[in-house]
Amino acid sequence: MYDVIIKNARIPQGDETRLTNILVKDEKIVGFLENVDNVESDEVIDANGHLTLPGCIDPHVHFMYHGFPHRENFLTGSAAAAAGGVTTVIDMPCCTVPSVRSVEQLKLKNDLIERQALVDYALWGGVTGEDVRNDWLDNVQEQADHGVVAFKAYMTPSVPTFPRVEDPEMYEAFKAVAETGLPIGIHAENFAICDFNVKKLEKEGRMDGPAWAEARSELAEKVAIELGISFAEDTGARLHIVHMSTGIGAKLVKEAKMKGLDVTSETCPHYLTLNYQEAMTEYGPLAKIAPPLRTKKDNELLWDGLNDGSVDFMGTDHAPYEIESEKLKEGMNIWNSFPGIPGVETMVPVVVSEGYNKGKISLSKLVDILSTNAAKHYGIYPKKGAMHIGSDADFTIIDLDKEWVIEPKKQASMCGYLPMEGMELKGKVAKTVVRGHLVYQDVDESILSDLTDKELEELVHNYPEGVEDKYSEIFEQYPDLYSREYLKSYRKDHPELIDKHIRGMRGITAKPGFGKFIKRQSIQVLPKKLEF
Ligand SMILES: [Zn+2]
Repeated sequence: MYDVIIKNARIPQGDETRLTNILVKDEKIVGFLENVDNVESDEVIDANGHLTLPGCIDPHVHFMYHGFPHRENFLTGSAAAAAGGVTTVIDMPCCTVPSVRSVEQLKLKNDLIERQALVDYALWGGVTGEDVRNDWLDNVQEQADHGVVAFKAYMTPSVPTFPRVEDPEMYEAFKAVAETGLPIGIHAENFAICDFNVKKLEKEGRMDGPAWAEARSELAEKVAIELGISFAEDTGARLHIVHMSTGIGAKLVKEAKMKGLDVTSETCPHYLTLNYQEAMTEYGPLAKIAPPLRTKKDNELLWDGLNDGSVDFMGTDHAPYEIESEKLKEGMNIWNSFPGIPGVETMVPVVVSEGYNKGKISLSKLVDILSTNAAKHYGIYPKKGAMHIGSDADFTIIDLDKEWVIEPKKQASMCGYLPMEGMELKGKVAKTVVRGHLVYQDVDESILSDLTDKELEELVHNYPEGVEDKYSEIFEQYPDLYSREYLKSYRKDHPELIDKHIRGMRGITAKPGFGKFIKRQSIQVLPKKLEF
């Protein structure tokens, strides 16, 4: 007797597929059977012969909770993941109040988000210039011991609660993280170059969208990656370049791998499909991100990088902002609007449509870059990222033939904009399964539609009982855990819009709180596989 059978699943086997049925017991895969006519189970999920991947992973999201609830919360962010076929997200440490740089902050964050999560999640730890200056680097090993998968550091200013590292501070951070055996992910843009160019172009009176991309130049990313590689070589740290946007970046990472260094990289769907000249002209602040969109040539070089192994896997840098107060507010322009776009909901379909379906990448590459490689790199494989006996029964079921158009206003993310608006895709997520439970299917109905005002009040707008007492020291420092941006936001004055949005999300079949915190299982190093 099994708990669930995933029927008619077309699973990848290298670059071929095989039609089978997947048996699930206690939320794990326990077998594959060609014929299940006489096999009993409590539940059947029909994959309808669709491609069924091991659950896809977005290892780079900013769900903005708690601290920036006008942008997203963990319920809407993880609903967007579910709708996008993402069964595990790895949330960044920076876009919360307080940011995550100690175990206590990590625990507080987990207490606030776990009741909202719809898919499984792991967490990044953090290290900042302030931690180096104040001699707080003991927190690094403590966070590692508590199950974070990696550490994030910023070379450029991003969130006020997560100060950037100066170059020598970054060196100290590398040394501390190297001792844990975990990767250090850097936002690789040289701050001095970016700052100088932004001021220069602003002074010249440039107000067009592309000016942002020209200011945050390719050179700024190049020298930042070069510095990171030098520090990695010197300290033995495992360097990971997050959201790498340039072809030159892929080349540098490849060379570092060839030298035997533990250097890895990820890129995002927008760096593979959009270019700054078109998208930033059309969308202005709504296409503003850091690092910025690049050129068509970079799109192609990054696809090449995925194929030759210099780009290891996909992430999205999902970072939604509020249109009314942070993107298109009166008086805002390309310089003072906030940089960030969403992505967790469209990563899988964009890579399937523009990569696999167009013949740019093979099936085995698709599985590696959307699921397996990130799981290995962050030490959660083969619990996640695999279709083995004993792996969690996480599946992304994709209708490869379904044609559809991206409509940001219909997305589960609260964001409401995306410079991929109107993009015509072939390939859509049909069902998302986490630990053998259906969490999303491509229909209009959702079990969240009848959440009451009171339930939403408790789930989204209030702290769980006891949290304020338990973390009284943190609450003393940050009395209500809200950012200044939240206090100036539109949704602060219209919290009912958040409720309305949650009730209007489509296809969700899991209850908030279903998603689990996945601690890093072990330290694993992704094997270097370069193609020549
Ligand atoms: Zn990011």
